[in-house]
Amino acid sequence: MNVGIFGGTFDPIHNAHLFVAESARRLEGLDRVLFVPTNTVHYRPAPEASAADRCAMIALAIASNDTFALDETDVRAGATGYTADLLPKIAAAYPGARLTFITGADSIASGAWTRFEEVLEALDAFVVAPRAGVSADAVERAACSVSSALRARVKMLDLPDLPESATLVRTLLSQRKSVRYLVPEPTWRYIVARDLYGLRHGDA
Ligand code: ATP
Repeated sequence: MNVGIFGGTFDPIHNAHLFVAESARRLEGLDRVLFVPTNTVHYRPAPEASAADRCAMIALAIASNDTFALDETDVRAGATGYTADLLPKIAAAYPGARLTFITGADSIASGAWTRFEEVLEALDAFVVAPRAGVSADAVERAACSVSSALRARVKMLDLPDLPESATLVRTLLSQRKSVRYLVPEPTWRYIVARDLYGLRHGDA
């Protein structure tokens, strides 16, 4: 079985996340893509929405795709938020599976990965979606820190740059602007129903 692991804060999930996950699934021949929200972040401000809300928004967004699943391992008590600690847990849940981690170019280029060699050792592939403003060189430089055998597991996905970000969604909501069609429709309904991200009855 080929399992894709898509980690992030998903604060909230947006359409580019779904596009990247589905494209990675098709390009890499994945049987399943796990969306793995994290709660303990080390390299950025804490998420604005609760873990329960972020999980609910993911579940709603992926419900129409049988190959997508929500994995709550990294929001459970005791989770460290480090991918190096997450991967053995996923491997134990899917014995014998080939594991592919999916990430955006901004994430790897930031160089903020802790125990990156250990992460790559636990994976069969680490695939990177391009992101506006992040050059392939920056990705290459970040991957340079590991041995060539491990670097061979890092691969750029041949995809277009997509402008969506959760920051953009949160910013628009804080300005009481619409995010409809930037996020999946059921996620948008959830945000409106719960007045998330400072929406406060605005016309989202
Ligand atoms: P934020 O704006 O809050 O930093 P984000 O939109 O980058 O959030 P995350 O939850 O941090 O979303 O992202 C999860 C993963 O999805 C990360 O690997 C990130 O790089 C990737 N990702 C998010 N948006 C895009 C995009 N537009 N194109 C490619 N990858 C993306």
